[in-house]
Amino acid sequence: MHEVALCNSLVEMIREQQRQRGFQRVRRVIVEVGVLGHVDPHALDFAFDVEAKDSPAEGAELEIREIEGRAWCMDCSKLETIARRGDACPECGGFTLIVEQGDELRLKELEVI
Ligand SMILES: [Zn+2]
Repeated sequence: MHEVALCNSLVEMIREQQRQRGFQRVRRVIVEVGVLGHVDPHALDFAFDVEAKDSPAEGAELEIREIEGRAWCMDCSKLETIARRGDACPECGGFTLIVEQGDELRLKELEVI
């Protein structure tokens, strides 16, 4: 499952942060998830609980913030907002779009103890 792999690397990022900053535990994890990445927030939440076991993030609250999809249209040279990968440019109807944002999962903030 896609979400499990994402949470696995998320927990790895948290462990890395712990090595750098030396906190005890994580109370809250804020992540940004792009709407183009096909991530189900409920599945992500569930997978996080499982993956965070025996890590500094065990029992932490996962806050998911969705970020919109953005793509460059090569036809009209504009940065457009798109809802799905493969959508046409809302401006000119062209399909030569290069996705710039919206399929990533980013660790935004850690609330630590
Ligand atoms: Zn366009």
